[in-house]
Formats: sequence, C-alpha cells, structure tokens
Amino acid sequence: MDLGLSCKKAIVCAASKGLGRAVAVALACEGVDLIINARSQEMLEATAEHIRAKTGVSVVPITADITTEAGREAVLTACPNPDILINNAGGPPPGDFLDVNREDWVRAFDANMLTPILLIRAVVDGMIDQRFGRIVNLTTSGVPSPATYPHLGVSIGVRSGLTGFVGVLSRQVVRHNVTINALLPGRFETDRLLETLRFAAATAGRSVEEQTMLARNSIPAGRFGQPEEFGAFVAFLCSAQAGYLTGQNIVLDGGAYPGLI
Ligand code: NAP
Repeated sequence: MDLGLSCKKAIVCAASKGLGRAVAVALACEGVDLIINARSQEMLEATAEHIRAKTGVSVVPITADITTEAGREAVLTACPNPDILINNAGGPPPGDFLDVNREDWVRAFDANMLTPILLIRAVVDGMIDQRFGRIVNLTTSGVPSPATYPHLGVSIGVRSGLTGFVGVLSRQVVRHNVTINALLPGRFETDRLLETLRFAAATAGRSVEEQTMLARNSIPAGRFGQPEEFGAFVAFLCSAQAGYLTGQNIVLDGGAYPGLI
C-alpha cells in the first residue's frame, strides 16, 4: 500500500536506537525526509547515515536533549513546519515510588508529558494551515494496564497525564486533517526493556535470564515485540489513509493486555 507520505517531513524525537529509530526507518522507507534527535552524537549520526544509505531520504540529525527548552528549539529550528511529529524520549527509571523525590517527578513530567505537549503546541498551527498533520506519541501499555508494571508508576503516571490532554486536543484539530494518536508498546526488544528486566530481576531476587523468560511467557504471542513491527505501525498511523483515526491509544503488545477494549 502506498501510504501517501512521499516528500513529507517528520520530526522523530529520541531516534538513535530502539523504537524511535525503528519509526524513523519505517517513515524513511515511505519517502519521508527526517529530522532525528538524541543526546549522544555518535550513535545519532550513525543512525542518520544508515537511514540515508538505506532509503535515500534527507536525514538531519540534531544532537540535543529534547526535554530541554534549548533541545526543542534546535529541533524546531531545523524543521519549523513538519507534516509528522513523533514524540518520544527516554522513560523515567523504574523503582519504588517512595524513593522518588520531587525533582525526579518534575524531570519525568518534563520528559514524558510537557515535552510532547510543548512540541505539539509549536507545530499544530502549521499542520492546521497545511491541512495535514500526523502526531504520534510513544507512551506505554502500562497506561491501560498499570498492574502489569509495578515498578513503573512514575512513567505510567506522567504518560497518563499526556493521554488525558491529547484526548481533548485531538478532537479539536481533526477537522483540519490533523490527527493525534498514541501507540502503546508492551515489551519490545530494546535497551529500555533490558533496563526494566534487570530492575525487576534484582527486586525479585531472580536472575535476568529467569526474569526474561517469565516476562516472555506472560505474553500470549510468546515473544517480545521487534522494533520494526512498532515502526511499521507508526508509519500507518502517519499515512494519508489514517485521517479518520484520532485520539486513540493503541496497545501493541502481543496480546498481553487482558481486556476486550
Ligand atoms: P531505548 O532503546 O533505550 O532508546 C531510547 C532512545 O531515546 C535513544 O535513542 C536515546 O538516545 C533517546 N533519548 C533518551 N532520552 C532522550 C532525551 N532526553 N532527548 C533526546 N533523546 C533521548 O528505549 P526504547 O525501548 O526505544 O523506548 C522508547 C520509549 O518507549 C521510552 O520512553 C520507553 O520508556 C517507552 N517504552 C518502551 C518499551 C519497550 O519495551 N521497549 C515499553 C514501554 C514503553 P540518547 O540516550 O543518546 O539520548
């Protein structure tokens, strides 16, 4: 299927590896020119070069912390009028909420709630003017299924705030062909998954191998997700065909979410 994205421009935040990178690759395969971002220059530039060589699209790497004012400004200066915005950043560290102080909470709000909202605010008027905009927020399957992740209360808490805000805004802009959705990863094979598995293993007094096996077996699909599967789904959410889909929180988790809706 031609997704109708050739020559569109996308900002993909936090995209040197993992899910963000996979989204960048998937969009580039559809002919989307990219601005990609991460904090470590070397890996980001290697990713940019990989995508250019694989797809031939333009890829501008912006080394910056997207959770800072300066980082967002650098990305928006490189691309003030994107057609597509992919909101992503590292998740807050796993842990017991009694160990989380006020500064940790503020950092988490900044990274996983306010940063996406501020980026949306910066680009949404341009999208409305051009009558095309696709915004996808990477959140977590813990939002509808918090009990599954007892060590990720901070992450789930702040991302739920973003989810609530987007529920309102998405209905206000869709008549201009601007959609805002979230894709909620379950367990995908990335460094972040390893970090959370290590924490859960240490807390439960198990080996990382044992914890990994338990986590894998708890997924009806019997495996962890591959980042490429995530990237392909986001590309569809950004497609010309997806203009009637907005305000949704779509869980991609190999069947782990136990409910019907
Ligand atoms: P990952 O493999 O660790 O990759 C994180 C990416 O984000 C890297 O490119 C990293 O590069 C970049 N990054 C982190 N903080 C940043 C910042 N402040 N500014 C700019 N770039 C930043 O993680 P992932 O698995 O792709 O996870 C992506 C998001 O999905 C996270 O928020 C995670 O919590 C969430 N999630 C993941 C899973 C999963 O199973 N993988 C499940 C649920 C939710 P630098 O370090 O160089 O900046």
